[in-house]
Amino acid sequence: MKTTIIGYPRIGELRELKFAAEKYFRQEITEQELLETAKSLRLKNLNEQKDKQLDLIPSNDFSFYDGVLDTAFLLNAVPKRYRALGLSPLDEYFAAARGYQGENGDVKALAMKKWFNTNYHYIVPEIDDDTEIRLSDTKPFDLFSEALQNGVLTKPVLTGPFTFLALARYTGKKTKSDFAQRTADVYIETIRQLSQLGAEWIQIDEPYLVKDLSAEDIVFFKTIYQKILAHKNNAKILLQTYFGDIRDCYNDICSLDFDGIGLDFIEGRKTLELVRTNGFPNGKTLFAGIVNGKNIWKNHYQKSVDIISELKTFTPNIVINTSCSLLHVPYTLRNESKLSPEYKQHFAYASEKLDELNELKQILSAEDPHSAAAYQANAAVFSQPRYEKNHSLAEKIASLTEQDFTRQPAFAEREKIQKETFRLPLLPTTTIGSFPQTKEIRRVRSDYKKGSISLSEYESFLRDKIKDCIALQETIGLDVLVHGEFERNDMVEYFGESLDGYIFTEKAWVQSYGTRCVKPPVVWGDVSRSKPMTVQWSKYAQSLTEKNVKGMLTGPVTILNWSFPREDISLKESTLQIALAIREEVLDLEANGIQIIQIDEAALREKLPLRKSDWHSEYLDWAIPAFRLVHSGVKADTQIHTHMCYSEFSDIIEDIDNMDADVITFEASRSDLTILDVLKENNFRTEVGPGVYDIHSPRIPTTEEIITALQKMLSRIPADKLWVNPDCGLKTRGSEETIPSLTHLTEAAKKLRASL
Ligand code: GLN
Ligand code: ZN
Repeated sequence: MKTTIIGYPRIGELRELKFAAEKYFRQEITEQELLETAKSLRLKNLNEQKDKQLDLIPSNDFSFYDGVLDTAFLLNAVPKRYRALGLSPLDEYFAAARGYQGENGDVKALAMKKWFNTNYHYIVPEIDDDTEIRLSDTKPFDLFSEALQNGVLTKPVLTGPFTFLALARYTGKKTKSDFAQRTADVYIETIRQLSQLGAEWIQIDEPYLVKDLSAEDIVFFKTIYQKILAHKNNAKILLQTYFGDIRDCYNDICSLDFDGIGLDFIEGRKTLELVRTNGFPNGKTLFAGIVNGKNIWKNHYQKSVDIISELKTFTPNIVINTSCSLLHVPYTLRNESKLSPEYKQHFAYASEKLDELNELKQILSAEDPHSAAAYQANAAVFSQPRYEKNHSLAEKIASLTEQDFTRQPAFAEREKIQKETFRLPLLPTTTIGSFPQTKEIRRVRSDYKKGSISLSEYESFLRDKIKDCIALQETIGLDVLVHGEFERNDMVEYFGESLDGYIFTEKAWVQSYGTRCVKPPVVWGDVSRSKPMTVQWSKYAQSLTEKNVKGMLTGPVTILNWSFPREDISLKESTLQIALAIREEVLDLEANGIQIIQIDEAALREKLPLRKSDWHSEYLDWAIPAFRLVHSGVKADTQIHTHMCYSEFSDIIEDIDNMDADVITFEASRSDLTILDVLKENNFRTEVGPGVYDIHSPRIPTTEEIITALQKMLSRIPADKLWVNPDCGLKTRGSEETIPSLTHLTEAAKKLRASL
């Protein structure tokens, strides 16, 4: 039995690649220096995998920015506007990734999207009618040769043609089938050259196969691969799938001439069942993804051994694999110097997952796996209670009834009561919560964390900031104010730090896109609230003004989606725990005189299952009620707002309405406002604040522009349901843009009000 992984992180265990690339962008180092850093990181990864005795080590999993973008360059699917800049190949690549502004021209970056159900973002390739697909890069060959020169015969990794063509954006009349033949030709040539260089196994990633596929999709897949596989000669082709199961095409794939099939036994709920029902084809190798590539918990060997033992009854040819690329987990526990061993013994980052694969291999080749020392040591870790269970919380969750998830009175009645209570003008103006986080604010917060200023100094600083922020909003003439969120580093970390059951890592960085990394907190145990988290700041802000100040919280689904979740209880259970904690905060804010409370669900859509058929049963059926649980206890005249960072919710519009918030604000300034038609068609009942300008850009919108946007909105949304606000929090903007932008926003609302 052999071991492999689908890919390794590449940003560097101390984010070396990020820092080198950013230095290169600022022209502080040369291209040569960046290339050398990259090479040394690749060799370090290679040696790590070699030392840990991984049998099949991947190559070409390295990228300066993103693997899909690399594939676009491999296929020459690069828009002319980047080629036309006349830059060096590396700079042209970065121009497509991040945009370019300089002597050679001014072009925006390609679009970026979330990679399936992860928090990693890929660059969306753009294909027009003139795109001439041909082999136009040598990276897979170069990296294969580089590894070979260092003594390792690697398994080159390619993003597959089916996934690539499915994810690309077509700007002309042609569609993906017009490019199928040429694309297949490039893969044939790539495989030929790799094979000539000595490659044996070649891994082709096709995660798109785990989505709902139509009969047409499957035919398309087969057409491409019949071409490719007819020319593979001596190469052994591994079709690698991940992020789910391939229930729509399992048999089709088994019948094609692949040499290996990579299946995900972690996220693929039906994978095992598929093998049980249909068997596994003779002569092929099953790459069994049993080590979770997306989470940081130790593998439970008992479960893995059970799966592999069962799989052995279907095929003798098994390679033990991760469930997806290790790109989605941090590098190594070696760098966690502050985390105590009691915690660490339960975790495995990328490097430790290599140990797990190796141990599993040893265990599985032992005569009696269950008596192997490594197996028993692992069993011992799992047999002990990891944390102290909160029994009363479990009981509370078990005894929740429909009533707990239902706010009374119903929306329409509340809306009437609230109009009476708040007496806000038509088209009320507000913001999403945060105000510019200046260098000073960041510095003082870090001084406080380091202990160089005292709690009382820190708090008095925050009070000053809040005071200024309230005064500023009053001057600008906003109707519903916020305190500004100066005490928060991040909308999830802040709550994680104040909730019981969360722990934090030091170096567990994961690439989010390009040179950006995130460091998600870990849900360790049962989550509960032991003290108020935001009350003092909201209360203080409210004491400074006659106007309403919104309390500002992050919702349970977003908190969980941006953390490493537990694996010993369901996501639903964890979300409900967090929901109950946030609910206490909501009630506490209300009891302290806060009449408007915003509960952000910025990431609600992120974990929507990949298959539409799973959307409700696997996710929305508990995620939406969890949100309602947070606010169902408030009085009729307490107004609940929520906020989402995107407007793509046409397809879950009813679910959004079922969150039963009183007001929802969302991004709409960049979209073409089609969302407004959908709101209208669906008789959307929640009041709405579609963002009237884009806070992600430093541009200051004019009053006229905002009026035009609002007029468009008013053609679809009744005036008494429309709010006026930016499309997201202002923390990343400076005061120089924020003040004029918000001034124009209130002017626009006033002018329009007068005309209504
Ligand atoms: N209230 C948060 C803020 O304004 C919302 C952030 C977000 O939507 N990502 O910063
Ligand atoms: Zn937002």
